[in-house]
Amino acid sequence: MKATNEIKTTQIDQVSTYSPAIRHDWNVEEVLQLFALPFSDLIFKAAEIHRQNHNPNAVQISTLLSIKTGSCPENCKYCPQSAHYNTGLEKESLMEIPKILEAAKAAKEAGASRFCMGAAWRNLHDRDVEKICNIVDEVKKTGLETCMTLGMLTDSQSKRLKEAGLDFYNHNIDSSPEFYSEIISTRSFEDRLNTLKNVREAGLNVCSGGIVGMGEVREDRAKMLIVLANLPQHPQSVPINMLVKVKGTPMEKVEDLDQFEFIRTIAVARIIMPQSVVRLSAGRELMNEQTQALCFIAGANSIFYGEKLLTTSNPEMERDNKLFEKLGITGR
Ligand code: SF4
Repeated sequence: MKATNEIKTTQIDQVSTYSPAIRHDWNVEEVLQLFALPFSDLIFKAAEIHRQNHNPNAVQISTLLSIKTGSCPENCKYCPQSAHYNTGLEKESLMEIPKILEAAKAAKEAGASRFCMGAAWRNLHDRDVEKICNIVDEVKKTGLETCMTLGMLTDSQSKRLKEAGLDFYNHNIDSSPEFYSEIISTRSFEDRLNTLKNVREAGLNVCSGGIVGMGEVREDRAKMLIVLANLPQHPQSVPINMLVKVKGTPMEKVEDLDQFEFIRTIAVARIIMPQSVVRLSAGRELMNEQTQALCFIAGANSIFYGEKLLTTSNPEMERDNKLFEKLGITGR
């Protein structure tokens, strides 16, 4: 009995020596050590760092709208919008501004502070830049923050979007550099990093994270978080998605990831990127309230809200509101 207590004390002492300082030099071994901590120690440490950097009872709310759906030439194995897979998805060309504004206003009324717009493109074409800038301008007039995800961006396109008032640009790295090549072959990990560089250097806020539960191993999850943490600046927003297995994609039958491992991923993201907003993203509807609550304790402080998360369903707003009420969380 005594021996067990000693082990526990030592483990907690070790945990409390981690510094919440901003670092860009994380290595695989130390991040794997974080992942391997006893669950309670890991969550405690993440919660401690979360409280030092954020209001633990406030969660930022974003709403996501697909402004151009399907027919994407990329072959991301998880994505129903890829033209490489037949998922029965209804394709839509670039949405007209009035329709986008209608959705933005509804999102604002429902309590969202940021409106994220996604287009299933490999990259933004110069011919579409001004259309996108007009959309940003109109949505900003509603008082919402704006975020776009449009595929790869050049440096001049990034600068133009910044001038137009865009607040955030989302471009996920998806997984570790090693596992990445197993899920996408039509563009490289390096391409992703180049877009992130262009976006960052244009002065846009970076939103970048990845997807877990695609059959990767823990080391891939650790390496993915390390790539993000070791960027010259931590992304201001880090979405962590749980794979939503869509019928017709090559990932429809991949084995489920244990939800404790998902919570651990959130906790490690919080520890190594203390000031970033960590978003509990796709896959939330597969999680029960208790799992989501543990994610919030472990440092998740943003969610997508609303009925549609691009093309996969998202828990209904009412359920979210009830959960927030039970947990004493304020949406912002
Ligand atoms: S994730 Fe994006 S880039 Fe990849 S197929 Fe889907 S829409 Fe295209």
